[in-house]
Amino acid sequence: MYAIAIHGGAGAVPRASLSPERELQYRAGLEAALDGGYAVLERGGSSLDAVTAAVRLLEDDPAFNAGRGAALTREGAAELDAAIMDGREQRAGAVAAVRHVKNPVELARRVMEKSRHVLLVGPGAEEFALEEGIALMPNLYFRTPERISQLEHEQRGERVSDLVPPGKGTVGAVARDRDGNLAAATSTGGMTNKRPGRVGDSPIIGAGTYAKNGVCAVSATGHGEYFIRAVAAHHVCAAVEYRGLTLELAMRELLDDILRGLGGDGGLIGVDRDGHVVMQFSTEGMYRGARDSSGRSEIAIY
Ligand code: ASP
Repeated sequence: MYAIAIHGGAGAVPRASLSPERELQYRAGLEAALDGGYAVLERGGSSLDAVTAAVRLLEDDPAFNAGRGAALTREGAAELDAAIMDGREQRAGAVAAVRHVKNPVELARRVMEKSRHVLLVGPGAEEFALEEGIALMPNLYFRTPERISQLEHEQRGERVSDLVPPGKGTVGAVARDRDGNLAAATSTGGMTNKRPGRVGDSPIIGAGTYAKNGVCAVSATGHGEYFIRAVAAHHVCAAVEYRGLTLELAMRELLDDILRGLGGDGGLIGVDRDGHVVMQFSTEGMYRGARDSSGRSEIAIY
């Protein structure tokens, strides 16, 4: 069975605060990304290409907190993090705190495929992007009026939480292709009003992103500091591999016991070795979608 799942962030998404128009907009964005990723699998493409395609589409959609429309630092700039992992040989690539890369997931993949490294940050990552002919943009491109106003609200103290504002989260994708290869990718602008230089869990292999063939592929969203401390995505895969837990039980343990014990919350999407997709969260909602070759197809928020 081949399958793909995507998320567009987890958080407090009070139904009342989401207008029908906005909900439609989010659903359309998720649908487009799911279609894009699934089409790759359907025509026999790799899970790596499928997660790259899905995350790229979500990065380009200003409704989500990744690429264009990213959450802004306290100085009003977009600083982007992304990672990708290939479950075949556990190769991985990631970038953090980049300010000009149009599609950070693309650069993360290039780091994996074309460099000797796993994680490149800031100016060094952007120098590599230039060498690789990756599309660069002025920082203005990423800053939408909505994100600017969210930052202003936050700075006026109108939001006490330091989580990304409701339902405006990180994006990610996991997939299993026809050959049984697993892959995961995650991309984010992080949290609103963050300090410049802050790096979340998304580009940290094992925290926000992880994939291992024969086990599972996982992408996380939520309060990154907690996901890093819990080594969340790796914890889930290790529980499946070494303790024989189902992916669902492993995710519930991570969210309900470990993360909650630390004081954090969020969500996870994953696909297991057989192509079974699991999507779990401990927040009010998580923008998410899944599709597989057995006919499952869903988009959901709550
Ligand atoms: N995990 C992301 C971060 O902390 C934020 C999110 O998922 O909304 O950077």
